[in-house]
Amino acid sequence: MATAIVTGGSRGIGAAIARELAGRGHDVVVNCAGSLDKAEAVAAECREKGVRAKAMAWDVADFEACQTAVKQIREEFGAPTILVNNAGITADGLLMRMKEEQFDKVLRVNLKGTFNMMQACSALMVRAKTGRIINLSSVAGVMGNAGQANYAASKAGVIGMTKSAAKELGARGITVNAIAPGFVATDMTDALPEGVREKAEQQIALGRFGRPEEIAALAGFLASDEASYITGQAIVVDGGLG
Ligand code: NAD
Repeated sequence: MATAIVTGGSRGIGAAIARELAGRGHDVVVNCAGSLDKAEAVAAECREKGVRAKAMAWDVADFEACQTAVKQIREEFGAPTILVNNAGITADGLLMRMKEEQFDKVLRVNLKGTFNMMQACSALMVRAKTGRIINLSSVAGVMGNAGQANYAASKAGVIGMTKSAAKELGARGITVNAIAPGFVATDMTDALPEGVREKAEQQIALGRFGRPEEIAALAGFLASDEASYITGQAIVVDGGLG
């Protein structure tokens, strides 16, 4: 079984993915940005499934911090051969009013953070001759979304980077895929303004927001041997949105 890193694993979709990978027998490093308490609780749930798991805080937007964390993980757990780039933020606003800082911080975490972690892990995967990289994009990156020019740009960027990395790393036995969720019930969508949620639900064929576990199931599959011939894809999981 492999060592997996799940960024932003302290809650929401990342926490569900950490549990899913532990359930499949993988050791899991649960990354978070700030307080370790929640990530530690997720790691404890993973350990209950009989694997090794550890919570670790670092900022994925910080290139050096990613290098240092991956080095430490390699020493403690062995080379990580599953990487789930899940950490993500929003800072919504209409284009005309969006501040430079709002744009930069979303790109730094969502897009550069994904690059930083792939950069830190890919050489180890090449050496191990195996690897699974799963990047969280969004339907916003596929279709665009008013008020999310920064977020949509970062998530579209994740898809381009995923497809490029798949082409670079395929010959080394490493697959790289993106998951593009629609609306999923987490802290991120809890922050949606009144009325937006109802309007969104009306546009979803299944009539409801997704559950984090419904995204985690695909991540678990993409990390498995069964998914060995799937790479360079951006798979939409949105309950039939639009
Ligand atoms: P969330 O806000 O509930 O959790 C985000 C996680 O990322 C948290 O654990 C947070 O600590 C971590 N994080 C934020 N900045 C970080 C940083 N700089 N370094 C390390 N960790 C950091 O979000 P979620 O709804 O679970 O979303 C998870 C991923 O799925 C995100 O990439 C998000 O963009 C994407 N997504 C979510 C939805 C949705 O509807 N919830 C839809 C499409 C895509």
